[in-house]
Amino acid sequence: MASLKLSHIYKVYDNGHKAVNDFNIDIQDKEFIVFVGPSGCGKSTTLRMVAGLETITAGDLFIGDTLVNELEPKDRDIAMVFQNYALYPHMTVYENMAFGLRNRKMPEEEIRQKVLEAAKILDIEMYLDRKPKAMSGGQRQRVALGRALVRNPKVFLLDEPLSNLDAKLRAAMRTEITKLHKKLATTFIYVTHDQVEAMTMGTRIVVMKLGYVQQIDTPMNLYNKPYNKFVAGFIGSPQMNFFDVTLNRKGDLVEVEFKDGSKINLPYERVCKIHDSYLHGGVKVILGIRPEHISISEKATGLKCQVNTVEHLGNECIVYGEIGQSSEEFTMKDEGKNIIVKTIEGTPVNAGDTINLLLNEEKIHFFDSETEITLMSPIPAFSLFEAKKAGEKMDIFGSKVDIPDALNRVLEGVNNFALEIPPHAIVPGKDFTLSVKEVQEIEGKRLALLTVGDRYLFALVDDKVKAGSKYSFNLLNDQIRVLVEGKSVLEPIGDHEALLGTFAKRELKEHGERVLHFDYVIDGVAIEGPQANGYKINSVEGNACYKKQYRYGFLRSNIEVVEEGGIHANVVDTLDYGNVKFAVLDVNGQRILYEVAKDFDQKELQFLVKGENIEVYQIEIDMRIC
Ligand code: ADP
Repeated sequence: MASLKLSHIYKVYDNGHKAVNDFNIDIQDKEFIVFVGPSGCGKSTTLRMVAGLETITAGDLFIGDTLVNELEPKDRDIAMVFQNYALYPHMTVYENMAFGLRNRKMPEEEIRQKVLEAAKILDIEMYLDRKPKAMSGGQRQRVALGRALVRNPKVFLLDEPLSNLDAKLRAAMRTEITKLHKKLATTFIYVTHDQVEAMTMGTRIVVMKLGYVQQIDTPMNLYNKPYNKFVAGFIGSPQMNFFDVTLNRKGDLVEVEFKDGSKINLPYERVCKIHDSYLHGGVKVILGIRPEHISISEKATGLKCQVNTVEHLGNECIVYGEIGQSSEEFTMKDEGKNIIVKTIEGTPVNAGDTINLLLNEEKIHFFDSETEITLMSPIPAFSLFEAKKAGEKMDIFGSKVDIPDALNRVLEGVNNFALEIPPHAIVPGKDFTLSVKEVQEIEGKRLALLTVGDRYLFALVDDKVKAGSKYSFNLLNDQIRVLVEGKSVLEPIGDHEALLGTFAKRELKEHGERVLHFDYVIDGVAIEGPQANGYKINSVEGNACYKKQYRYGFLRSNIEVVEEGGIHANVVDTLDYGNVKFAVLDVNGQRILYEVAKDFDQKELQFLVKGENIEVYQIEIDMRIC
């Protein structure tokens, strides 16, 4: 039994191929985690790094509380089961299962007990004297599992263990492995390219694409709340249908217009979390709807569809068609002409028919057409609102408030602008008061829908704020993006800063021994880094590390101003956001921000950041080393 933690794990193969990028997950004890994604997305590489069969280029891997990056596979307390079973053909099942234990010089009686126990769990007691070639695929796979089982591992790793089996056996073994997981109460990590296996077995699933994690979630959340179009399309069978559409708000309704001119209406409340800028036509968005969430209408309403083929599966029926009256409106590049509908058997539909389709409006997804990220996050990233200048003040949400200096500068000569306000940038205060239409509990947070005319401002609030009441608040101006004519003129201030520097080692004699110390050198000032990080950088990069630049990242709150011996900075400017003020520090041409008091007026200063608070990034392939 064990938990696992993968922290900023990267794999770059010797040929320079970056197979895994910044993989992060905390796996709880007894979880059944599935890595899923198309071939080549990095699933096996990640699993093999956990097993110790592949070196970890950068990042930390913990099993329990132990950092195991450098541990040999045999010392990691894990067992791996492969798709090709890897059984020894000349040995019996018993010998195959006992082999690893004998290698460890375990007493024969103990081995016997363990093999019999595992054979019982897996129901292969009667085959112990057989050789693998006299067994079926499913039985061999059980032996392979047994060989892992006898070792009592803390973590089971399974790499596509069922892909050599036929469909029926696969389904049966799926259930067996799930049962085995329950019985053993051990952590399982399972790799597959098959989304059905992932959905039926995993307590949580990691969806990967081209070396990047797309979403880590429960099966139901992946199905109901896919983060992007890739996850939406990968999970579910037949695949989710996608269509290019435009959205146009008309009062309480939003008109969805398909490429061929077909239109359907949705209540505004269904899509109120989509940013307003998408709701005025003109912007192409992707509509997603699963085949099982479309029904065939008895009436002549809904989307017209020409039926091409109908597949009868006995319990259900899959209809393949094309939407629209004329197909010429579409080009190959456009999403959506073809549609798949999953309906109950017995529906009177035949190839060549024209039918009308109804989309279940509660199950419609929308994605940005460029980023392909969902437009319907349960907690929207921000609300977009127009504002205008009223003399020296800013007029927004029906109130007029002072314009802080930092905003004023970018708004010279501008009258109308817009603000992207994240829900966390709305805090109790006195500047604005709005009515609370509704408070939603989402992922342990409380999201208030504050009424502004016919739209909502989304705010994260505490439990004092209730639906039907008024909420008085201020804005954290430094967290807001300012737009003029749709273009960003002021970016929100994050909490991180970074400076470029070099890396150096020092060899000191301590108590008669030579000890290595490692320094992050920023503008000539050496900041000692943790020794373990120094070794890590050296092991990832080799001796080239002493000849190149790194990006040193740190939280702004970790900057400490010192009297002497620090990194010298000229204060070239200050930025007053009202809620907070920053000094703009120039470190030999590199600029960072430092939070200061209102009356700050220094022209220069020196600062340090503790080595243990510094993150080190390799610049060329943008990889966090430590
Ligand atoms: P998956 O298990 O998701 O199919 P892999 O983890 O096997 O994917 O591979 C991820 C990527 O790394 C692929 O593009 C693959 O070609 C590449 N790759 C795998 N092994 C090596 C290797 N030894 N050297 C170079 N590239 C590799």
